[in-house]
Amino acid sequence: MLLEAEPANSLRFVDLEGVQVMSTAGIPPSARRAEQCHVRRELDLRRAVDRTIVMEELARGDVGVFLSAPGPSMAGLLVDMLGTAHQKEDFFAPFLDCPTWSCFALTEPERGSDAGSLTTAITEDDSGRLRVNGRKRYIGNGTRATTGVVFARRGKSPLSIGAYVVDPTASGVKADALATIGLRAAQISDISFEDVALQPDAELGAHLPRGQRGIRASLQVFNQLRPGVAALALGVSWNAFDTVVEALAGMQVPKLRDRLRCIETELLSSRELVVRAATAADETGDGVLASAAKRSLCRQAERVTLDLCSLLGPRARLDNPALDKAVRDARGIEFMEGTSNIQVLNVGQSVVTSVRSPRRSTDR
Ligand SMILES: Cc1cc2nc3c(=O)[nH]c(=O)nc-3n(C[C@H](O)[C@H](O)[C@H](O)COP(=O)(O)OP(=O)(O)OC[C@H]3O[C@@H](n4cnc5c(N)ncnc54)[C@H](O)[C@@H]3O)c2cc1C
Repeated sequence: MLLEAEPANSLRFVDLEGVQVMSTAGIPPSARRAEQCHVRRELDLRRAVDRTIVMEELARGDVGVFLSAPGPSMAGLLVDMLGTAHQKEDFFAPFLDCPTWSCFALTEPERGSDAGSLTTAITEDDSGRLRVNGRKRYIGNGTRATTGVVFARRGKSPLSIGAYVVDPTASGVKADALATIGLRAAQISDISFEDVALQPDAELGAHLPRGQRGIRASLQVFNQLRPGVAALALGVSWNAFDTVVEALAGMQVPKLRDRLRCIETELLSSRELVVRAATAADETGDGVLASAAKRSLCRQAERVTLDLCSLLGPRARLDNPALDKAVRDARGIEFMEGTSNIQVLNVGQSVVTSVRSPRRSTDR
C-alpha cells in the first residue's frame, strides 16, 4: 500500500527477495559473469513456464511491487532474442551491478492495438548518426528506466519498423508518469523523444532479415510473455482471495466458506490453463493458447475480485483497502500485452487458418 500511495517509493523494495529475483531475471548465461552463472539455477526465467510460476506467486503478494521491480523485463527478452553478443553484454551489464529499471516503448497515443501504424521515426544523417523522434504512451516504468527499447520506423513499410536500444535519461527524452486508478505502482508514462541520439549499433537484429525484427519480433516476445500476464491476473485473484480468507478468520460462516472453496477450486484449475499456455509458448513459440489464457484469466480476475467483495458485504472495499486495490488492479491487466478483443482475434485467426482443407458440403 506504501507503493500504491506513492509509486516513487519503489527503491525501498529493492531488497525484497522477490524483487531481487526479477532484477536479474532473463539475463542469458553468456551475458553473466562466471561467478553469477549458478545463481538460482533451480529457476530459468528465460522459460515461460518458470516465469508464470514466479509471476503468479509475486502477484499473489502484490502485483504493483512486481511491476515496479527493477530488471531487464520485456526489453531484456527482446535483446536476448535479437541482440548480438556485444549488444547483450552492453545491455545486461548494468542489471548485474545495481538495481536498474528498463522500459519497452511500443504503444503510441493514438496507436495502441494497431502497433504496425506507429509513427515514431528514426533518421540517419550523412555520417550515419541515428536519431529518434516521436511519442510513446502507457510505458511501464517509463520514469524510472535508465535503459530500454523503443520501436520506430525508418520508412513507410511495416518492415521498416525496428527495435532500438535507447537511453531514457539522454538529452531530448521527457518522461511523465500518468495518473491511473489501477496498477498505480507500474507508473505507466508518457515519453517523448526529441532528436534523441542513439548508438550507431542501437538497432536490434540488424544482422537478421527485415522480416525477423521489429514488430514481428515484438509479437514473438508477446507470445512468450502473455502466459505471464495471465499468471499476473491469477495472482491478483489469489491476492483478493487471501484478503477475504483473512477477514473471515475465526468467524462461523459455513455458507461463505463454501463459496470460498468454489472460488479456490476455480483458481486452482485456471493454473492448469496458464501452465499449458506457457508450455506451448516454450515448445513451439505459439501464442494462441496464451491469448486464450490471458483473455479468460483477465475476465476471471475482474469477476472474482468483485465476487469476493460481495462475500464481505457492501462495506468490503472500504474496510479492506487491499481488496479495493485488487479490484482496481484486475481491470488494469486487461490492457497489458493486448486487450481481450485482440486476444479473441488471435484465437479466431488461428482457428480459421488451422483448418487445413475446407470441409465439403458432402462430407459426413
Ligand atoms: C499497466 C499497463 C502497462 C503497460 N505497459 C506498456 C509498456 O511497457 N509498453 C508499451 O508499449 N505499452 C504498454 N501498455 C500499453 C498497452 O499495451 C496498450 O494500452 C494496449 O496495447 C491497448 O492500446 P490502447 O490503450 O491505445 O487501446 P486501443 O488500441 O485504442 O483500444 C481501445 C479499445 O478498442 C478495442 N480494439 C482496438 N482494436 C480493435 C480491433 N482491431 N478489433 C476489435 N477491437 C479493437 C480494444 O480491445 C479496446 O477495448 C501498458 C498498459 C497498461 C495498462
